[in-house]
Amino acid sequence: MKAITLVSPREISVVDDWPEPECGPGEVIVQMRGVGLCGTDLAAFDGKAAVPAFPWIIGHEGGGDIVRVGADVSDRAVGDRVVIEPNIGCGHCAACAAGRSSLCETRLSVGFGMSGLLAERVAIPADYTWVVDRSTPDVALACFEPLVVAHNAVRRAGVRPGDDALVVGAGSVGQLICHALAQAGAQPWVTEPHPGRMQLALTLGAKAAQDRDGVLYPFVFETSGVKPVWENALTSVAKGGLLSLVGFTREPVELVPMDVVRNQITIRGHLIYDHPADFPATLEAVRAGTLVAEQAVQARYSADDAVAAFAAVREVPGKTWIDFSDWYGTPGG
Ligand SMILES: [Zn+2]
Ligand SMILES: [Zn+2]
Repeated sequence: MKAITLVSPREISVVDDWPEPECGPGEVIVQMRGVGLCGTDLAAFDGKAAVPAFPWIIGHEGGGDIVRVGADVSDRAVGDRVVIEPNIGCGHCAACAAGRSSLCETRLSVGFGMSGLLAERVAIPADYTWVVDRSTPDVALACFEPLVVAHNAVRRAGVRPGDDALVVGAGSVGQLICHALAQAGAQPWVTEPHPGRMQLALTLGAKAAQDRDGVLYPFVFETSGVKPVWENALTSVAKGGLLSLVGFTREPVELVPMDVVRNQITIRGHLIYDHPADFPATLEAVRAGTLVAEQAVQARYSADDAVAAFAAVREVPGKTWIDFSDWYGTPGG
């Protein structure tokens, strides 16, 4: 089958002789229709995030149509259109049992611990595919996973209608947090140095926070993971407020405990989403028309042009996605 492979750091190659995935018990084979690219993929592309071997298939944001179901799978069928939840909990540790698969120590990430989505067909545990309406466009399949991250960050923060929230950084997750905040009836304010990203955030309902020196916010979402920006984010939280950390850095940062204690600030790390609750919660919001997955999309590349997609992705202010429609119906599909 065809696949988009990472041959070595910074080298992508589209091949047509990648082995077909095997459909194990409890798994389904998904014919991919759309895959989004994000900073995590770029970290692997750049060689900054290790992959198990070369050549390797990365990609973790996407969906398609089920073309085969494995033994023991009774609640998914050939022809179902699905989005893929690409972080697979072990299913039996304390964290997984408590519905906190994001804390599972042996959680497998698609594209890192297991082969990724940038291929014609992929094998995925059936429970980690979520059936969507048959009419769901490919672009929405490609953009659904980061929407779950953003929606879940906003839900967990407990934002209410009328609340002001500062969003630090307007990469695709920052933009989708703006979208989720606006749809929750809150007012997102955004700081972002890149003019194109800022513009896109404004179209999603955010207002520019740059000129509001000294204004404090009950909710601050830090999505940049950049050290000096992190420190500004902390000092922008109002008394009794929440700093939700979505972006991350390994660099140590300055924090004055007295300020945090006196102002009774909550600092909360937010990583991805939990199985099985969070994907269905976002699916429900999309079905109701409250959230739109493809809000931040700005660039589309055909799967055969994946080399160009990776070359250009950093320059695109919004989301880049890979369209697999040229690959439908090839042998084995
Ligand atoms: Zn991602
Ligand atoms: Zn687990």
